[in-house]
Amino acid sequence: MTHPHTRTYWLEHAWLDTHVEPGVAVEVADGRITAVRTDVPTPPPGAEILRGLTLPGLANAHSHAFHRALRGTVQVGSGTFWTWREVMYSVADRLTPETYHALARAVYAEMALAGVTSVGEFHYVHHAPGGARYADPNAMGEALIAAAADAGIRITLLDTAYLSSGFGQPPTAHQLRFSDGTAEAWAERCSVLKERDHARIGAAIHSVRAVPADQLETVARWAEERRAPLHVHLSEQTAENEACREAHGCTPTQLLALHGVLGPRTTGVHNTHLTAEDVSLIGGSGTGTCMCPTTERDLADGIGPAVALQNEGSPLCLGSDSHAVIDLLEEARAMELDERLRTRTRGHWTAAALLRAASADGHAALGWQEAGAIEEGGLADLTTVALDSVRTAGPLPRLGAETAVFAASAADVRHTVVGGRHVVRDGAHTLVPDVPQALAQAVDALRG
Ligand SMILES: [Zn+2]
Repeated sequence: MTHPHTRTYWLEHAWLDTHVEPGVAVEVADGRITAVRTDVPTPPPGAEILRGLTLPGLANAHSHAFHRALRGTVQVGSGTFWTWREVMYSVADRLTPETYHALARAVYAEMALAGVTSVGEFHYVHHAPGGARYADPNAMGEALIAAAADAGIRITLLDTAYLSSGFGQPPTAHQLRFSDGTAEAWAERCSVLKERDHARIGAAIHSVRAVPADQLETVARWAEERRAPLHVHLSEQTAENEACREAHGCTPTQLLALHGVLGPRTTGVHNTHLTAEDVSLIGGSGTGTCMCPTTERDLADGIGPAVALQNEGSPLCLGSDSHAVIDLLEEARAMELDERLRTRTRGHWTAAALLRAASADGHAALGWQEAGAIEEGGLADLTTVALDSVRTAGPLPRLGAETAVFAASAADVRHTVVGGRHVVRDGAHTLVPDVPQALAQAVDALRG
């Protein structure tokens, strides 16, 4: 007799952190894994069959959902990060709680189709254009939390303090809707946000450009008191380093260290243009690094020193950030392949290490420590990659991790299970019936 909230999954091949195990039965009750049995060569009666290689669910540790509306349009012409930002602001200007909910629901559904089970949403479009408060000052954040529920994935809402346009400069007209005025006011607004089964609340500092140095500690303390994750865009652009040096006589990393922002619950996003001392400060404090290789290459940011950061003690995770593409397998291999191009040597990370970044370490960076492994007691979040597609057929199944990381794409994700619920079955989303149409409509509603 099967309890309605218990279920058995049979995994044709399972990634058990270090190796591919054939024939694994996973028992799930109330969204958690209660047992993992190996040496199960055929599916037990009544089991849900996951054919292919099943990984722990993937964590997309850095997202700005609305950037998805820029896909394609920002590939026309040339420019820099800063000209790209102008186009991005024009989309931000048009968001409302309703249109943002529709867009984020579709984007998170796209993520689910790509095997993402948890997203870290670095959220800073808080208020109405011009800065007027909505009746619920958290209407935009709530829209994102609801969108994740509608798309069937977990979210960590990294509510972002964004108070200035540069060192000692007030927000520009575009940025008024991002600003709470002061870090105190930011903290007061965030403190009202409630966690749910699928949603956790974390903090973010947009960047050292956007939060005055004397207010960094207010944000860090808020996160510390809640033992919540704290994320910060860090040294993505050399211009930020130069402006910081001019204003404070130090690097952005040194400024963060000085104001108590670094630490094991903090994640620096990008960490691209660092000095050797910056790398030691980040690694030595246990601060994580979120690499976003597909965005970093799209925006011509440069290649961050991920190997050195990891060697100094910084755990690595991955994010699709601007959503030029949404494909965590591509993010994982890009980190390794960028390093190969730079060094002209191979093998900086194994497929196993890249999968850890894409899952366990990404989840830890988002405050979901109980996700990221197929093990008893863990959340029943699973991503199955087909090993019989045109991209993945051929290699022996025991090389499934290498095949998934170095040859598969998001299109090879066959099943996504979140908390024991099939969100994607056989490549189709079970909650959002037509994801491409949902994306097209949501993006169209934001067109100028
Ligand atoms: Zn970002």
